[in-house]
Amino acid sequence: MAGWRSLLKTATESDVRKSVKEPEVREALQKIFSDRVEFDVPMSRYTSLRVGGPADALVFPKDREEIVGLLQFLSDHRIPYGVVGKGSNLIVRDGGIRGVVLDLSEGFSGMERDSSDPSLVIANAGESLPRLVHWASDQGLSGIESLIGIPGMVGGALMMNAGIRDGEIGDVVQSVEWMESNGEIRDVSKESLRFEYRHFEIPKGAILLSAKLRLKKGDPIEIQERMKKCLEKRHEPKGFPSAGCIFKNPPNDFAGRLIDQAGLKGVRIRGAQVSDVHANYIVNVGSATARDILSLIDLIRERIREEHGISLELEVKVMGEASGKD
Ligand SMILES: Cc1cc2nc3c(=O)[nH]c(=O)nc-3n(C[C@H](O)[C@H](O)[C@H](O)COP(=O)(O)OP(=O)(O)OC[C@H]3O[C@@H](n4cnc5c(N)ncnc54)[C@H](O)[C@@H]3O)c2cc1C
Repeated sequence: MAGWRSLLKTATESDVRKSVKEPEVREALQKIFSDRVEFDVPMSRYTSLRVGGPADALVFPKDREEIVGLLQFLSDHRIPYGVVGKGSNLIVRDGGIRGVVLDLSEGFSGMERDSSDPSLVIANAGESLPRLVHWASDQGLSGIESLIGIPGMVGGALMMNAGIRDGEIGDVVQSVEWMESNGEIRDVSKESLRFEYRHFEIPKGAILLSAKLRLKKGDPIEIQERMKKCLEKRHEPKGFPSAGCIFKNPPNDFAGRLIDQAGLKGVRIRGAQVSDVHANYIVNVGSATARDILSLIDLIRERIREEHGISLELEVKVMGEASGKD
C-alpha cells in the first residue's frame, strides 16, 4: 500500500468529493496502476451486447493489496466504483459510468485443486467460466459441466448464480471469499450464503475474489459427453451480440414463451431487436445504443403486463447514466 500513502494524505487534507475527471485524481490512478488503467473507456468494448458509454476509469488490479488501497483512496475522495466481469449480462447506459470500474481479469485469474482435498476447486473471480468448465472436465471433476456455453467470468457467474434448469453454480459452492468496501476480506461458507434464481446476495460494494467449489470425481469422457449434450440443448441466437436472457422467468412460466405469444419476436427499435430465434434475447442487429435496448425492454414489459398482468423482472444488470439525449 506504500504507493497510496502520499495520495491518501492529500485526500484526507482536502476531504472533498472528487471526480475521476479531475487531473489530480487521474494522475494518482495513473501513478499506481500505470498501464493497468484506462480513462474514458467506451464500455461497448467490454459488454457482449456491444453498447455502453464511457467509464471514467477502468482499472485492472494485480492483487488484493492494490484493491484495498484503491478502495481506501476512492472512499477518501468519495468516488463511486463498480465491478465488471466479462460484461455478458450487462447493459451499460449510453452516458457511461462515473467513477472507477474494476476488472479482475488480469490479476485474479486462475484455478487449482485444494492440496488437502482434491475434489475441492479454488476458482478466482477473474477466471473465465468456460475455461474453468473445460479445466474441471480435463481434471476428471464433475459438477459444473452444465455451465458449458455460458460466457463470463467466475465472479460474474457467482453474482448471477449462472446456470440452466439442470444446475446453477451456487449448487456446488462450498465457500465464497469477498472484499467488503472497507477492505476487509470475508471467507463465508455455504451455510451462510444465499444463492437464489439468478441472484446472489453479498454486502453492498463487496467485490468477489474467489470461490471454493465442491466437485465430484468423474470419468472425463462421460463428463465431456454430458457437456456435448448440454451444448446441443442450448437454443440461442447466433451471429449477433446479445446478453443472454433479458428477463427472469416468472414462476411456472417462461419469459420467452410470453414474449413469443405476444407476437413480439422480430420487433425492432432502431438497432435492437427481439430475437426471432429465442424471444427472451434482445440482439444488437446494427449499431444499437443502450437507449434502443432499454426502450425495447420497456415495450416488452408493457405488452406482457397488459396481456398477462405479469411484471417481467430483469435478469440483466443495468449500470451507468443515461446520455443527455435520453
Ligand atoms: C450468448 C449468451 C448466453 C448466455 N447464457 C446464459 C445461461 O445459459 N445461463 C445464465 O445463467 N446466464 C447466461 N448468460 C448470461 C451471462 O453469461 C451470465 O450471467 C454470466 O455469469 C455473467 O458473467 P460476467 O462475468 O459476464 O458478468 P457481468 O455481466 O460482467 O456482471 C454481472 C453482474 O455481476 C457483477 N460482478 C461481476 N464480477 C463481480 C465481482 N468480482 N464482484 C462483484 N460483482 C461482480 C457485475 O457488477 C454485474 O452486476 C448468457 C449470456 C450470453 C451473452
